[in-house]
Amino acid sequence: MLTSGPRGTKDILPDSSGYWQYVEKTIREVCQNFAYQEIRTPVFEHTELFLRGIGDTTDIVEKEMYTFSDRAKRSITLRPENTAAVVRSYLENKLYSGPQPTKLYYIGPMFRYDRPQAGRYRQFHQFGVEAIGAQGPSIDAEVISLAVALLKKLGLNDLNLLINSVGCPQCRPVYRTKLQDFFRDNVAHLCSDCQSRYDRNPMRILDCKNETCAEYSQGAPHMLDCLCEECSDHFSGLQKLLTAAGINFAINLRLVRGLDYYTKTAFEIQYSPLGAQSAVCGGGRYDGLIAECGGQPTPGIGFAIGIERVLLALEKQELLPQINSTIDVFVAPLGVETQAAAFQLLSKLRHAGIAADMDFMNRSLKAQMKYANKYPAKFVALIGEDELAQQKIMLKNMETGSQELMDMTALVHMILEGMEK
Ligand code: ATP
Ligand code: MG
Repeated sequence: MLTSGPRGTKDILPDSSGYWQYVEKTIREVCQNFAYQEIRTPVFEHTELFLRGIGDTTDIVEKEMYTFSDRAKRSITLRPENTAAVVRSYLENKLYSGPQPTKLYYIGPMFRYDRPQAGRYRQFHQFGVEAIGAQGPSIDAEVISLAVALLKKLGLNDLNLLINSVGCPQCRPVYRTKLQDFFRDNVAHLCSDCQSRYDRNPMRILDCKNETCAEYSQGAPHMLDCLCEECSDHFSGLQKLLTAAGINFAINLRLVRGLDYYTKTAFEIQYSPLGAQSAVCGGGRYDGLIAECGGQPTPGIGFAIGIERVLLALEKQELLPQINSTIDVFVAPLGVETQAAAFQLLSKLRHAGIAADMDFMNRSLKAQMKYANKYPAKFVALIGEDELAQQKIMLKNMETGSQELMDMTALVHMILEGMEK
């Protein structure tokens, strides 16, 4: 227990944290490029927010939430996703009173009681954006193109962008009835989840992963045939915009949500080399969500990308960058008496902004040189008894092998000059 973390969690160790930093830096650059600003909300919220904001017929709410009572008996949930929390914050902090749309992004851990396997964890990380306040298809196209731009910038090219429309509260009831008519005679053959979905949320039968349910879904009526004029115009508008921006997409009729506040555009980006867990990005429009959370009716759209899956994809395609751990100077004290001088030099170097380290293990000269080569260090500053007596250091250039006796201040100047070049 004490030497292993809870199932479905993992440590991000120094040998891979550089890759995380690289992905996060790329995310921030793309968001700046698209004029989205960062928001950081707490990792826990009132459970009620997720019941309302995700919907109590979803897998997340039915099976996957980490919910507990705090000491004052309030029901608290570790966030399983971040759209509901961003909407809560948007309302609480009146972000609607600023210039619209409100364009936000976040990066952070999410928690779901999922079945752990490659690309599926119980604590995982998402990067997501939310664009709140704009209603036309151009913001949908922007949000989708941001996700595509990020994945492409990271070097992932074989992306499958799938889009669909789930209609709106005007046209969806008609479709819902058609679907129920279609499944009526076969309800008993569907999985137990889908049997309860039949009444509560029949659209979700279409994306059930159970093979039998998939078979019984063959030939089901299409939402796209039932869209009202507004939803239909929105969907064709989006396709025009994506085409204009040179973004490839395919329509996938099985992309559904089926809760009243999810409207119009639904999309997913798959990266097929990932196999079973191939979805890297899921998103869509939620024009009813803000009112559901107690605000004025306000349209919104967003997506979330799973960072672990992106990293898996980058690793698979050998797209992870070389992580640089080089330092400028390794200070090598030879003998205990030289340690204070060595530490003084180390402090001077770091104070001047030079990346430096020293031996803390009383290693031999040979072992210190070997250690310095691991970074690798560009220079080693040796301080032995002779150097100490002369108030100097012996500087070894690790590239050329040349050595030079110099005083500490000269060393700092020399390195700084080299850095400016
Ligand atoms: P899935 O069908 O794979 O469970 P989902 O529909 O639950 O996905 P979303 O809620 O749309 O996923 O989340 C967006 C993205 O977050 C997913 O495309 C995926 O990349 C990532 N993701 C979701 N759940 C997990 C998890 N348990 N571990 C790692 N990444 C995850
Ligand atoms: Mg899931």
